Amino acid sequence: MKKINVTVWDETQGPIGPYSNGIYQAIADFLVESGQFGKVRTATQPEPEHGLTMEVLADTDVLIYWAHNHHGTVEDEIVERIRKRVNEGMGLLILHSAHGSKIFAKLLGTDALHLRWREASEVERVWKIESNHPITAGLPDYFEIPKSEMYGEQFCIPTPDELLFISWHQGGEVFRSGCTFKRGNGKIFFFAPGHEGFPIYYMPEVQQIIINASKWAAPLGDEPIKLQNVTKSPEALRIGDKTE
Ligand code: ZN
Repeated sequence: MKKINVTVWDETQGPIGPYSNGIYQAIADFLVESGQFGKVRTATQPEPEHGLTMEVLADTDVLIYWAHNHHGTVEDEIVERIRKRVNEGMGLLILHSAHGSKIFAKLLGTDALHLRWREASEVERVWKIESNHPITAGLPDYFEIPKSEMYGEQFCIPTPDELLFISWHQGGEVFRSGCTFKRGNGKIFFFAPGHEGFPIYYMPEVQQIIINASKWAAPLGDEPIKLQNVTKSPEALRIGDKTE
């Protein structure tokens, strides 16, 4: 089976919070360590074409996208390039504040930026609400993130295809923290935890979810549907119609 190539994208370069080599490198490191992927690249917004050239995206099966503050300065041309690749079948993981990204809004068709939030250091209890799913495999019924930023409902997304995790926050709010969507041939997974101030991507449960989701989102190889003028129907072919 073809190995899954993953590109981990981040809006910033260099250290941030507890991540001495950046969030993108921390995520790339545990993907590589798992031994379950092919090429694991990193790309960042300050690079030319935001590191997402046509060549890089063509060779990417799953794009992991982390962003927080610089959504507005992502070039529209690159956003459209990602959208096209998702429709062709590239998987997309939208992490944490990337809910406010142009690409997520474009793919969902709603202002997914809108939610309730509080930059606090509160407990987040992440509940698995669906078992026997590739993304929740191996996860306990729930796990706790000792310090997290609060994201609460309402969250301006279309009803997800699948709702896999719901988070309860110490302040009492709840949030749809793990959702899947399908757009064209592409599979999309949104996962909310991951504020840059806390070491959330070092947690084994969170790493398991991202590894699982990357495998789930990878394309299986089927070509997307294209505009076709079909001059002969299957029935015409069956009866040997020679009139065309
Ligand atoms: Zn945050």
